[in-house]
Amino acid sequence: MPHSSATKAFPRMQPGPRFEVYTLADLEKGTIPHLQSLSPQQRLAMRAVAHVLPFRVNRYVIEELIDWDRVPDDPLFQLTFPQPGMLAPDDLAAMTDLLQRQAPAGEIRARVQKIRARLNPHPAGQLALNRPRDAEGNPIGGLQHKYRETVLFFPSQGQTCHSYCTFCFRWAQFIGDKSLRMASREAGVLHDYLRRHREVTDLLITGGDPLVMKTRHLADYLEPLLAPEFAHIRTLRIGTKSLSFWPHRYLSDEDADDLLRLLERLVAGGKHVALMAHYNHWRELETPAARRAIARVRETGAVIRAQGPLIAHVNDDPGVWARLWQTQVSLGIVPYYMFVERDTGARHYFEAPLARCWEIYRQALQQVSGLGRTARGPSMSATPGKVDIQGVTEIAGEKVFVLRFIQGRNPDWVQRPFFARFDPKATWLDQLRPAFGEEKFFFEDELAAMLQADRRGGAS
Ligand SMILES: *Cc1c(COP(=O)(O)O)cnc(C)c1O
Ligand code: SF4
Repeated sequence: MPHSSATKAFPRMQPGPRFEVYTLADLEKGTIPHLQSLSPQQRLAMRAVAHVLPFRVNRYVIEELIDWDRVPDDPLFQLTFPQPGMLAPDDLAAMTDLLQRQAPAGEIRARVQKIRARLNPHPAGQLALNRPRDAEGNPIGGLQHKYRETVLFFPSQGQTCHSYCTFCFRWAQFIGDKSLRMASREAGVLHDYLRRHREVTDLLITGGDPLVMKTRHLADYLEPLLAPEFAHIRTLRIGTKSLSFWPHRYLSDEDADDLLRLLERLVAGGKHVALMAHYNHWRELETPAARRAIARVRETGAVIRAQGPLIAHVNDDPGVWARLWQTQVSLGIVPYYMFVERDTGARHYFEAPLARCWEIYRQALQQVSGLGRTARGPSMSATPGKVDIQGVTEIAGEKVFVLRFIQGRNPDWVQRPFFARFDPKATWLDQLRPAFGEEKFFFEDELAAMLQADRRGGAS
């Protein structure tokens, strides 16, 4: 049956819940009723952590995703609420002490800044590196161009999320320090850059979460790309956690239908449109609202691809990943990446050894059919590129990690296997040493030269 308007094709689920968000101020005032079941010590520790790392959670997450009977072990609680183990014991003690004796704000702030500075706010040199330049050679804010074919864009209206993940690798952007932000308000800047760079095929709009933006802002960035001069931009990706943290963005929000129609127009205009959906646990896919949102997005012709990090206390279990991938496949979502927790923030609490990540990946993969085996990983987004662990094996009597670039600063590095000495404790690429007595990995000299050129402003 033909339908006359997109509104009919996507009947709006009215009335929808209102978006209500809780932050540190609510922890201080005790306005989240669900936390009453925790001990005063637990609540104090939570406040201590939330002074250092960003905290933000909305009512949908609290009421629909967290299983309060299983708190504090519940994975969705671990994913969104501050945990005492996220700070080093002495930092936690210092913070709780300051709060308990109601120390002056200045004293608290000084301590907070000291702790934050030690948490590696910009992993993989995000602030200094990969900054593209305009025609005059000036750095352009809000853009990142690390791999030849894909440009990342950080729209300024999308530099927050519907809730924050406790392990967030972009936490530094959320704590209000302007020098740490990397956002742009200018659609023109983005379009100029893409016009000049014909080698770029993919635009990835990211954040924060670009879908906290109003649809009309998103349209300002994306719709002009349907013009013939942007024919080289074949794929539009939107990185988002909203399908999990606020599915009503696609159902009952004021501009929910506008968003679906925008996706539809981009698809009709010949673009491959992909929602790069961040998922950590299959429970995020179980609620009726989440399922309706997924179905509505799929009706637009946009593809949903799933990616997310492997996180201790949340999903460091092959069974959780197998069920996550299976559920995704049955809902029409394509598993895409399993990431290794980045070297930033509370990583000591959330990280898992690379050897363990690989075991989990392998065991999870073995439990699903081929359609569930499309997730690559476990992958580290490190300075030289995205490196995944292909396996652990023994070669000529030496136990090694087999590694590979999925993405490289130099496209020629991609898909070249290389080897590192096995280390059961290593959690990141910079802790690995080359196997077979070699001094350097094959890419190291070239990488050093590239970084030096980048710092001098030679790269364009
Ligand atoms: C992952 C990533 C991309 C996209 O890489 P694909 O392999 O195309 O998914 C682009 N830029 C950066 C900085 C990335 O980390
Ligand atoms: S959705 Fe992504 S950017 Fe937002 S808090 Fe979680 S990890 Fe950070």
